[in-house]
Amino acid sequence: MIPAGFAYTRAASAAEALALLAEYGDEAKLLAGGHSLLPLMKLRLAQPERLIDIGEVADLSYINDGGDHLAIGALTRHRDVEHSSLLAEHLPLLAHVASHVGDPQVRNRGTIGGSLVHGDPASDLPSVALATGATMVITGPSGERTLPAADFFEGFLETAVGADELLTEIRFPKYTGAGWGFQKFNRRAQDWAIVGCSVQAAGNGSNGGGNGSAGGVAGAVALVNMGSTPMLASDATDALRQGSSAAEIGAVAAEGTEPPSDLHAQAAYRQHLARVLVQRAATAAGL
Ligand SMILES: Cc1cc2nc3c(=O)[nH]c(=O)nc-3n(C[C@H](O)[C@H](O)[C@H](O)COP(=O)(O)OP(=O)(O)OC[C@H]3O[C@@H](n4cnc5c(N)ncnc54)[C@H](O)[C@@H]3O)c2cc1C
Repeated sequence: MIPAGFAYTRAASAAEALALLAEYGDEAKLLAGGHSLLPLMKLRLAQPERLIDIGEVADLSYINDGGDHLAIGALTRHRDVEHSSLLAEHLPLLAHVASHVGDPQVRNRGTIGGSLVHGDPASDLPSVALATGATMVITGPSGERTLPAADFFEGFLETAVGADELLTEIRFPKYTGAGWGFQKFNRRAQDWAIVGCSVQAAGNGSNGGGNGSAGGVAGAVALVNMGSTPMLASDATDALRQGSSAAEIGAVAAEGTEPPSDLHAQAAYRQHLARVLVQRAATAAGL
């Protein structure tokens, strides 16, 4: 439970963090809230030679109204997401899910960007990014690029953020007044989900990706701990977009999934849970 030795540098701004990443290359790892990276280091599953601490970079901690979307800085703590009045009004699903991450200690330190870049299929917030069609803003040596959440999670604990890049902002469409539901099946309140899901009904915002579309956002169904990456439930999302009932959406929620079997649940039981939980979340969303 003691990590290997490492050097430590604190970055004061996003620009300084990028310069440090360019200087130290593959030997360095960014440290945000440390609530995923430090456990990996203690288990010696990660042994970075240098940590670049971005935990106090104030210019990446904000929740701003971007007109048709909400812009959230990657260093925004789960607690600030949980208690944001902007989110309560325009994207209540995200605030609600943040309130179910771990316990108060975890929510006071952990960041939305760290959770997304870590890309753990068992984590809760990626399901919101997928269900709401969020846009990731990634900054690197050659500037800024944007990516839809659906293209962000590439493999087990692997995302599209390169070793010399920072996730700087996440843009969520506004879903003001639209229905939503979240279900998390776990044994104790502070535990990770054995299975979870986010259901977002259609809204009027745009995805903030700069494509100028004003036709509204479709909503989707996303699953927690049902595969090797955070994932959309494709058939359930199609059903939602075709106006199917909550029962019909739930019935196809596990199609195409290959969930893990472990101490907590066999794969078949996880698929059963996904169907039940998605139906409940879709019902809560008014579908
Ligand atoms: C006891 C415990 C219980 C938990 N329970 C839950 C739970 O129920 N649900 C849940 O969803 N999560 C849970 N978590 C995880 C928690 O949400 C973490 O805070 C989150 O996963 C990681 O955020 P972080 O800021 O701590 O990231 P860190 O651990 O600092 O970093 C994680 C990874 O992301 C990289 N990184 C961080 N920020 C950036 C960035 N801006 N750009 C590029 N790379 C970056 C780091 O280099 C590292 O590889 C739990 C954690 C603990 C310790």
